[in-house]
Amino acid sequence: MADAFDDETEQTVTMDEYLKEVEAEELEADLVLGGDEGKECTYNMGYMKRQAIFSCLTCTPEGNAGVCTACSLSCHDGHEIVELWTKRNFRCDCGNSKFGEFFCKLCPSKDVENADNSYNQNFKGLYCTCGRPYPDPDAKEQEEMIQCILCEDWFHEEHLGLETVSEIPRDSDGEPLYEDFICKTCSAVCSFLTLYPQTIRATECQAGVSASNTSKDKGVMESNPAPCAGGKLENNVCSGSSANSDALSSSPNHVAVEKGSSSNGTLEKSNCSDACAKDTACVLGVGSMVSPPTTSEIKPFFLAKSWRESLCKCGNCLEMYKQKHISYLIDQEDSIAEYEKIAKQKREEKLQKQEGAELDFINNLGHVEKMEILGGIADFKDEFRSFLESFDPSKTITSSDVHQIFENLAKKRKRT
Ligand SMILES: [Zn+2]
Ligand SMILES: [Zn+2]
Ligand SMILES: [Zn+2]
Ligand SMILES: [Zn+2]
Ligand SMILES: [Zn+2]
Ligand SMILES: [Zn+2]
Repeated sequence: MADAFDDETEQTVTMDEYLKEVEAEELEADLVLGGDEGKECTYNMGYMKRQAIFSCLTCTPEGNAGVCTACSLSCHDGHEIVELWTKRNFRCDCGNSKFGEFFCKLCPSKDVENADNSYNQNFKGLYCTCGRPYPDPDAKEQEEMIQCILCEDWFHEEHLGLETVSEIPRDSDGEPLYEDFICKTCSAVCSFLTLYPQTIRATECQAGVSASNTSKDKGVMESNPAPCAGGKLENNVCSGSSANSDALSSSPNHVAVEKGSSSNGTLEKSNCSDACAKDTACVLGVGSMVSPPTTSEIKPFFLAKSWRESLCKCGNCLEMYKQKHISYLIDQEDSIAEYEKIAKQKREEKLQKQEGAELDFINNLGHVEKMEILGGIADFKDEFRSFLESFDPSKTITSSDVHQIFENLAKKRKRT
């Protein structure tokens, strides 16, 4: 009985579903690779704003080196490779002093070391505050991880330093409502963010924030659309009082990081818009060297859509970003969203070129060859159509059906 049931629920995929799945996988790969074809070592392009990086545990088991896509394919084929997704400001290390006798096949002349590269535990294949590998062989279920935009390490939801994972701003489908995440450790570096209006943060209760927005802060902070106006009020952050525009600042979950700014959020907003009227003035008004909150107060940041655009670019703030080594925050091209946008454009171009190449191929053939290929396609279409017409639609197409189509085709070709 159980067997019969299993048979019936056996997964079947339609051709359309299959093609869509293949396309989605290709798209994902292209997004990580940023349109890099993986043919040339990126070393000569210097420290790239962002690129896909791999660590080879066979060559550099200490995890103190990273290589580009092309090198991972050409120079480290068959080695134990850790995919690091993308890293900012990195230059390919393949074959430099860290690799001993090993030479890069694609770009053998490199400096001894790339002094500006930074390496975190990810290069050893370890992630999060718990320092576990991903996928984790000891875990029952592979948990999704969230990447910090500062240190670029990845974190388990349970290890973010939150009271409960329900503090992660997500919509009712579990999709993230935040654009960027800054881990607990890095939040200390960015304590100045607490001086910005609440709208820079993504929260579960954007509704409350938008309600309190006035025309005063137009253009300064773009708040997300109200995602949890209705349904999802069951968690304690969005408690009943969220209809009240003060709900956010009075919510216990926000007090910790908001100290000093929680009670006068609206006041700050008007300060800010005044300041922004004059180009040179600091958005923060008071200067940005805030004394960081004490360790017990530090919470990770979840930042709202386009929050980077809101960052002050006055002389003082620019200097502060420089001192903190976070100037990339005001560089639009640093963001993964921008990287993926460019990757998508390159992908479109590539696909168009491919299509063009296929047409060129046909057009460059001699007349006889052309007719033969086009004839072959027509034959295949005919055969496939007659197969579909004769086929019982309630059944699944099996591989022997497909073989049959090709056998019929072969017979036809022999006859002609
Ligand atoms: Zn390389
Ligand atoms: Zn290697
Ligand atoms: Zn190489
Ligand atoms: Zn962890
Ligand atoms: Zn971090
Ligand atoms: Zn400023």
